[in-house]
Amino acid sequence: MIKNANIHFNHLGTPVADQFDDVYFSNDDGLAESHYVFYQQNNISQRLQNHDRAHFVIAETGFGTGLNFLNTWQQFAAHLDRQHDKQEVQNQHDLSVNKSDNSSVRRLHFISFEKFPIKRDDLAHALKAWPSLHTFSAQLIAQYPINLAGCHRLEFADGRVVLDLYFGDVQDSIDAMSYPCEGVVDAWYLDGFAPSKNPDMWQQSVFNKMRAISREHATLATFTAAGFVRRGLNEAGFAMAKAKGYGKKREMLIGTLTTPTEQQSGPAYFSHHASTLNNVAVIGGGIASSSVMYSLAKRGITTTLFCQDDALAMGASHNVQGAVYPHLQAKNSPHSEMFAHSFLYAKRLYQQLLDDGFDYPHQWCGVLQHAVKQGLADKHQNLADKALWPTELMRNVSATEGDDIAGVNTGYSGVFFEQGGWVNPPALVTALFNKAYSLNPIKTHFNCHIEQLEKTESGWVLHTKTQQFGPFSDVIICAGEHSDQFKQTQALPVVGVRGQVSHVEASEQSKQLKTVLCHKGYFTPEFQEHHCMGATFEKNSKSREVKEQDNQTNREQLLSFYKDSDFATSLGEITAAKAAVRCSFIDHLPMAGEWAEQDDYVNAFANLRLGKRYQYQPLAKPQQGLHVLTGFGARGLCSAPLCAEHLVACLNNEPRPFSERVSQAIHPARFIIRDLIRNKI
Ligand code: SAM
Repeated sequence: MIKNANIHFNHLGTPVADQFDDVYFSNDDGLAESHYVFYQQNNISQRLQNHDRAHFVIAETGFGTGLNFLNTWQQFAAHLDRQHDKQEVQNQHDLSVNKSDNSSVRRLHFISFEKFPIKRDDLAHALKAWPSLHTFSAQLIAQYPINLAGCHRLEFADGRVVLDLYFGDVQDSIDAMSYPCEGVVDAWYLDGFAPSKNPDMWQQSVFNKMRAISREHATLATFTAAGFVRRGLNEAGFAMAKAKGYGKKREMLIGTLTTPTEQQSGPAYFSHHASTLNNVAVIGGGIASSSVMYSLAKRGITTTLFCQDDALAMGASHNVQGAVYPHLQAKNSPHSEMFAHSFLYAKRLYQQLLDDGFDYPHQWCGVLQHAVKQGLADKHQNLADKALWPTELMRNVSATEGDDIAGVNTGYSGVFFEQGGWVNPPALVTALFNKAYSLNPIKTHFNCHIEQLEKTESGWVLHTKTQQFGPFSDVIICAGEHSDQFKQTQALPVVGVRGQVSHVEASEQSKQLKTVLCHKGYFTPEFQEHHCMGATFEKNSKSREVKEQDNQTNREQLLSFYKDSDFATSLGEITAAKAAVRCSFIDHLPMAGEWAEQDDYVNAFANLRLGKRYQYQPLAKPQQGLHVLTGFGARGLCSAPLCAEHLVACLNNEPRPFSERVSQAIHPARFIIRDLIRNKI
């Protein structure tokens, strides 16, 4: 569990950490010091104008009040404004040469590690000291995350500024990260408290890991001039020098990485290779495809959508009301980690869409999971005993509390996800697509059934029966249960489960329901005089036809759990229903990453059968440019946006939002590798 910082404000108004007995920033003009020590001594301003990629990555040890982040963001905003003005002038003079300045950075990515997050109120108090940063600090405070360990990806300014805020000890966080051989960090701000007061932050093992995740020539700056810090960083591969300290301080340290490693975070068979991403085809029309188009659009990547239906969200994203909440276990598993962080990210994104005017029917009314069976009651008790999750994410409620929350009588205890709720998936998928489109127009081909993918010298060509499209540098398959339809993806172990949701007329009593209820299935609060009631669960059926029998099953199931509750017994007719096939995998996790055919994996890693592990050796790229993002049949509204973001971050060699263990848990090769290790293939 993450513990907050205990802080007080000294007589000059500077925040002081009680745990460390040290100030968060200097008593005399902390902002100017932050700017000098970290921003200027890393030479960020010049580097933003001339960089080898469109994004620039800064990593910081010790987020504290976020002053360094906010100052850097303000400087970056000014940099973007200057670029914009330059562009305008060029356009006015119609300078056909050098119309877009490709060496100038367009996205800022800031990673920060924080063991004791400041409480939101304290943060707001501390940041009042900097009125010039108000525009930025107000947005940070609004998005400031709950006390959950791991990486919170916060996005500002339409994704031009990304903050990966890691809650937890710096060593644990940095050890858990997923990163490529080339590293990702361009500059470091080392801002733990004074080494004498906080030696944990300044350990050799942290310095060594900094090297592993840095790019060649990454720089660092720190306020301290302590000899052991200089020597330790030097040992880790940084050429170190002393610089003039800020104000009255004599010295500080700066450094440049001269000897990078070629280490990546995981074994070769779970690598993610960077891809060209200059012209991407996305196949599918649901939440996965909208999510990935949004992630691509934020990065200015040209995308073309191919959808076999005549509109978005006609498959499994087709229900009238879909519940949004995470699946959390009573253990700190990759599964729970993925869902917890994905949920928080999706919630911020969905809220941002509304704030930006991309509306969709929804209610953030919470989701209440009832202990309708002894097995569930035991699970809930286990969750309460382990107390792994912040209460803002999930909390146990007694039957009385639960019924108060729900506004109806059920007599069941349960767990409550107060930030959850329901959305109208087709409208949400469309809103997300429209948002993506507003950032970077997307070409669309509806009623377009792609039958074949062909890898040619110049890229991927997509074939329908009568037409062909492309070439594309990359193809991302987000086709749900149809994802295995291509020759290349036949081995994808997709499990299709048919589900039917019934729309039942509301009664006066059922209109009292104030939250989404989950039992074995789910039941939503009234919307347009109806509730959604479902869903059936039928394996080995791909039929989207509505069945009367399934409507009855849904009603019987609801009544079997709520036979004494008038909200359930008073319901009216079932007037409509929707059926779809949910796509999942046997481990109930989605899939995000590059796809290589089974034979290529077997050939490359045959020795896994003999127990060999292949740490850190590069894999040939047999299907370069072919990727899958699918398996969102279970809680896809919750997990798809961050999985899409992870996929695109991997392909673009950017910092990844998921830890290495989550990255492996959702990797497309996981079943092949498991079978190879078990000597089954
Ligand atoms: N950069 C901050 C700012 O702009 O306000 C000030 C950082 S403050 C000097 C140092 C921060 O490091 C504190 O917030 C503290 O909680 C955090 N910290 C200390 N030890 C840590 C550790 N082992 N892992 C992660 N964070 C740690």
